[in-house]
Amino acid sequence: MTGTVLEEGLRGAGGYLLDGNRERFMHKYDAKLERATRDIVSRAMFSEMKAGHLTPNGGLYISMGHLGPENVRKQFKGMVERCADCGFDLAGGLVEVVPTAHYMMGGVEFDVDCTTALQGLFTAGEDSGGVHGANRLGGNGVANSTVFGGVAGEEMAAWVRREGGSQAAFRDADRAQIDAAIARCEQPLRAKGGAHGNLEPLRETLFDLMWEKVGIIRDAQGLKDALGVLSGFDSELDAYTLADHSRAFNLSWHDWMNLKSLVQVSRVIAEAALAREDSRGAHFRADFPKAGALETSTYTSVRQADAGGRLAIDMKPVAFTRVKPGQTLIRDAA
Ligand SMILES: Cc1cc2nc3c(=O)[nH]c(=O)nc-3n(C[C@H](O)[C@H](O)[C@H](O)COP(=O)(O)OP(=O)(O)OC[C@H]3O[C@@H](n4cnc5c(N)ncnc54)[C@H](O)[C@@H]3O)c2cc1C
Repeated sequence: MTGTVLEEGLRGAGGYLLDGNRERFMHKYDAKLERATRDIVSRAMFSEMKAGHLTPNGGLYISMGHLGPENVRKQFKGMVERCADCGFDLAGGLVEVVPTAHYMMGGVEFDVDCTTALQGLFTAGEDSGGVHGANRLGGNGVANSTVFGGVAGEEMAAWVRREGGSQAAFRDADRAQIDAAIARCEQPLRAKGGAHGNLEPLRETLFDLMWEKVGIIRDAQGLKDALGVLSGFDSELDAYTLADHSRAFNLSWHDWMNLKSLVQVSRVIAEAALAREDSRGAHFRADFPKAGALETSTYTSVRQADAGGRLAIDMKPVAFTRVKPGQTLIRDAA
């Protein structure tokens, strides 16, 4: 089943993951079995799939029936209904599943008051990076957006009150930047020649590339291959001419702009993954499987270095202001 997410609580409640032969496999990967953290479970699933232990549709199974179908129906009403909509019986049968990316842990660098390096630009929620470290725990996505959304709102209001009358706070828009952005967006309306066809195959190929080479298990060769292909996609998009040049409700134009952004974000992810020669949380390098020294942890900061789109990468030290590696805030555990 793809296109919807089955919640982690299913594994937490005791659900089993099974391979195509209907056998459990998590014992090969972690003593916590299906209750291991999501990065470990994803890698285990990916490895089983790579090894060819597949269900008819190329995935694996989750099975809840041993917990009692009535109980599952009661405890996971929404999930059972969602699966039924897709033709699967979660309460008593098997549901085909695959690991998926459903969260972006990177984002704009920001301070705890939601300010950024650009004066007047605030960020919060999934657009901001660093809140979860290398591995977001279940439930913390909405908490992040809610807490920092509130902080950003209050800070923005205070900033407007404070800076409202100051000319410095509200600079004139940079006309050259705006014109350059418009020119970039209008490119497929101007270009002559090139393809006029459907952008969907390119988007599908991009998804497959990111899944295969930049996804759950990465290595230097795969990442370099991916960067080469991404650069080709960019050129292909630059040479693309849309058949329909209208500016009103032109969905193909939207698709083109979205694809340009997706290729750009994909490049950032692949470059950052290539630069990071260790494995932390959701970032796993088969050629550098160890986490490395936690005390000297760094995070990866990527910025566009020039108008040509070259990326500059800095590894910046993590400031452990409250809890250092090896410490805990949980009283009992401490
Ligand atoms: C399938 C799925 C299941 C999840 N389950 C959980 C869970 O169980 N627990 C949990 O904690 N987290 C979960 N998450 C993560 C969590 O839902 C998200 O991280 C969170 O909702 C993000 O909130 P946000 O406000 O930061 O961003 P978003 O909810 O993405 O809001 C951004 C908004 O901006 C709008 N927008 C985008 N571009 C523009 C533009 N140019 N102009 C104007 N508006 C624009 C978008 O339409 C959108 O409404 C899940 C995510 C997914 C995808």
